[in-house]
Amino acid sequence: MLVVMKNNASEEQINAVSDYIKKLGFSSQSVPGIQRTNICVLGNKSRVDSSVLEVLDGVQEVIHVSKPYKLVSREGKDSSRVTVGQCVFGSDFIPVIAGPCSIEDREKFLDIADILKEMGASVLRGGAFKPRTSPYAFQGLGEEGLKILAEARERTGLPVCTEVMNTDDVDIVSEYADIMQIGARNMHNFSLLKKVGRKNRAILLKRGFAATISDFLMAAEYIVSEGNWDVILCERGIRTFEPDTRFTLDISVVPIIHEYSHLPIIIDPSHAIGRWNAVAPLSRAAIAVGADGLSIEVHQKPLEAFSDGAQSLKPAKFEAMMSEIRTIATAIGRSA
Ligand code: PEP
Ligand code: MN
Repeated sequence: MLVVMKNNASEEQINAVSDYIKKLGFSSQSVPGIQRTNICVLGNKSRVDSSVLEVLDGVQEVIHVSKPYKLVSREGKDSSRVTVGQCVFGSDFIPVIAGPCSIEDREKFLDIADILKEMGASVLRGGAFKPRTSPYAFQGLGEEGLKILAEARERTGLPVCTEVMNTDDVDIVSEYADIMQIGARNMHNFSLLKKVGRKNRAILLKRGFAATISDFLMAAEYIVSEGNWDVILCERGIRTFEPDTRFTLDISVVPIIHEYSHLPIIIDPSHAIGRWNAVAPLSRAAIAVGADGLSIEVHQKPLEAFSDGAQSLKPAKFEAMMSEIRTIATAIGRSA
């Protein structure tokens, strides 16, 4: 249930409503809005009688939220914007996150960071802790990689995004990253979701490859329920019977998520398709379908990449893709 407060409700009235909800035996969580603060009632197993709350001072109305994900549901909340430095996810401008799969060494990463900034990327990406299918594959540079990432941020002024794989690493990754990525394999790692939910950092939550839309939004709910509202969802392909693509990019998720949730959703075509020559076509589709951003793997020499070379674009291809998506963004009244 969501208690919608009046525009001019005072701090005192908001606190009084929260206290009353606690007295009823439930917990409350305030939902930040541009115009007003709403209060979500959590922990109720059945429908709560709203009449007692409707009469409290400062309350405008009480909405029953039908979905199990109360805080990320669109019911009662306008679209969220997630701001990271100069970059905003969920506005008309469509930010592009770009960079290699892994940070391999300092020179190469700083070089690609300069190139990507020049080509219009809004956020730099690069893995320092890598979730690899094989334990014998390159696992990332760890903290050394995070330091290189931070140096690239200093140099370019662009925010940086990197994956955090387990609860032990959340503190260290949050010291360096502007956006902490939760990978597809960890979307169901509830301890990790709760821990990043207590950090003051934007979270890029990737959809697990066997997760339904409801599973995906419940994972986001874990993060928000700990107090962190800065969640960006990312569709990165799901497992189907099709062997000719690495995963199947589910672009249909974008309008559905926009209908069900106020959170912004971006698309990562690189991990979905697994081959570089289809990344630009899928990026064009992603913009056309209404995605709030893209995440693209780029490498100077894909054939020599330590991970995911087959799906990485060379810088010139990335630049061409940027120009194409700008055209499509303009056609739908946005920009990129
Ligand atoms: C990545 O972004 O490099 C990555 C491993 O992504 P995913 O978790 O979607 O496989
Ligand atoms: Mn990768």
